[in-house]
Parts: sequence; structure tokens; C-alpha cells
Amino acid sequence: MVRLCVIEGDGIGHEVVPAAVQVLRALLPDIEIETAEAGMDTFIRTGSALPESTLETARACGAVLFGAAQSPSYPVEGYFVPGVRLRQELRCYANLRPARWLPVPTAKPDVDLLVVRENTEDLYLQLEHTRDSGETGVSEKIITRAATERVARRTFEMAMSHGREKVTIVHKASVLPQTDGLFRKVAFEVAKQYPEIETDDLLVDTAAYWMVKDPLRFDVLLTPNLYGDILSDMAAAWGGGLGLAPSLNIGDGVAMAEPVHGCAPDIAGRNVANPTACIMSVALLLRLHWNMPELADRVENAVRSVLHDGLHTADINHSAALSTTDFTNEIIARL
Ligand code: ATP
Repeated sequence: MVRLCVIEGDGIGHEVVPAAVQVLRALLPDIEIETAEAGMDTFIRTGSALPESTLETARACGAVLFGAAQSPSYPVEGYFVPGVRLRQELRCYANLRPARWLPVPTAKPDVDLLVVRENTEDLYLQLEHTRDSGETGVSEKIITRAATERVARRTFEMAMSHGREKVTIVHKASVLPQTDGLFRKVAFEVAKQYPEIETDDLLVDTAAYWMVKDPLRFDVLLTPNLYGDILSDMAAAWGGGLGLAPSLNIGDGVAMAEPVHGCAPDIAGRNVANPTACIMSVALLLRLHWNMPELADRVENAVRSVLHDGLHTADINHSAALSTTDFTNEIIARL
């Protein structure tokens, strides 16, 4: 029995997650779905952004579909970003963020790259404090051999099994030898065990330059947490935009599908959000976690067919745009 814990979160999570669940139900009518909550609305109502019961449900199901939650750029007493905490708590140590050409005018032809982002440490441990009566902010950046080794191993294993040829290790070891230097060193040690895969490395600023100038030079990028977040958003632009960019968090057992985009408060509640990123995240779950490649192909082909016919949501083409629900129904009709 396939079980899925569904967490809509905030904002457009309430629109794109139900769309993806509808697609999944069309393919797997017997799927057992448990809903759970997280995010700012949950925090305001219950005092916790990620209730313990949500974590329990996620662990019990073994697979999660998470929409997005608010991440305010100012401190909110007691609030933390639940997506980050979920990835840590569920031990989803690798975040796979593919950017692949889709038939939309906003995508760059032939782009096909994968950002693998370390998911459990770096500045995302949020070990922050202030000094000098708040006039100095301090954040600890943690990089460990163990976390780097496991994400690097997973990256090279995936590169092997998915016919990838090259892994680029991204870092800023020139400035941060004790943290990024360790990441680089350990990743290269792991790379030695996979001589079939070509491995090189780039400073993160150089990687950003090439991501803008020539994304076709990339195959797989292996990055610490923060750089992966930024570079994958850049890559998402080449894949057609944030509304199309999927991701899957994997690790020690539980997998969590999650679009790259956030909760997009600017368009929330208007039935205009693009559900493709969320639907394609479910395709990743089908392919890589549930080992159902035929069903994943059906989802991806249906999405491609709809986009190929010029049917779009407003983020891709503002004139004659379909609503979230109409766009989803088109995909379901073509499954
Ligand atoms: P958060 O605080 O959750 O990160 P945000 O608005 O800062 O929210 P995103 O949600 O990633 O960040 O949105 C960035 C921009 O991309 C916004 O203008 C948003 O409307 C747009 N966007 C993001 N996702 C989608 C989507 N699925 N469909 C259409 N537009 C989207």
C-alpha cells in the first residue's frame, strides 16, 4: 500500500498541492493519503510551525508531499521555517533539484542538469546569535565529514545509475578552507571511488557565472546547503521558471517531494499558481522513491504534452492563461 503524508503549508501550497494530489489519485486510486499541517497559519493557530503530530505522520507514511511555508525575512519569536526543519528531522540529507528543458517559451533548449544540495547542515543549522548589544550578527557555518560523505556518495551513485557523466563540486574553499575546504576534500575522496564519472570543482561565484552564461556545461552539481539553494533557483530560470521547478528530498528512508518555489503570497488564493513544479515533484517521488518509473513517465509526458500545446498558467504566458484548476484538469485528461 502506497502511503503519502500531505502538507499543504501556506499560500499557494493550498492550491498546487491539491492539484498534485489529484494527479496522483488519478494514477493510484488506492493511495492512502494522510493530511498534516505546518507553516505560519499553523504557528498562529497552534503555537508551533511544525507540530510533533505532523512529524509522526510523515515518518509513519515514509513519503511526504510538502507545498511551501512562509519564511519571513525578519525574526518572528518562536517561528522557524518548517521545510528546513522537516528535511533535518526526516533525515532527508540530499535535495535533488533537476532543471530540465520543458516546451515553454521561457526555457532554454537542451538544459538538463541536476543540483544535489546537502540538506542538513551549513548555515541552515541557524546557529545564530548577536554580540555588541545586537550590533553584530554571528552565524556558525557547520560542515562535517559525515554529512558531506553521505551526500557525495548518494550523488555519485545517482550519477552512475542515471547515465550522468560529470559531477561538479561547488564550494568557496579559497575563503573558507575549514568548512568549504572540508566539503571539497571529502567530496573528491568519494569521487575517487567512482572513476567512471568525471569530477571537477568550481568556486561558487564562478559556478553562478557559468550558470547564467552557459548552463549547458553543467551535468550534476554537488553543493553545500546554501549554495545549492541559490544555484538551483538560477537553474530553475533556465528550466522555464520557478513555477516549473521540482525537487525531491531523500536520505535514510523517508522521501519528501517539494517544489523549489516558496508559498508566493503575491499570487496566493487566486487560482493562478502554476502547479507544474508540485506535479513534477510527485513524478520524482514516483520514479525515485516508489520505484514506479512508468507512472512517473505518464505524469511527465502529460505535463509536456499540455505545455507543448501552448496551454499555460499566467507565469509562463499572461495572455489567455489557464487557471490552476483548468491547467491541472488538462494534465489529468492526458495521463
Ligand atoms: P517565500 O517567502 O515562501 O519564499 P516568495 O514569494 O518570497 O515566498 P516564491 O514563492 O519562491 O518566493 O516566489 C518568487 C516569485 O515567483 C513570486 O513572484 C511568485 O509569485 C512566483 N512564483 C513562485 N511559484 C510560483 C508558481 N507555482 N506559479 C506562479 N508563480 C510562482
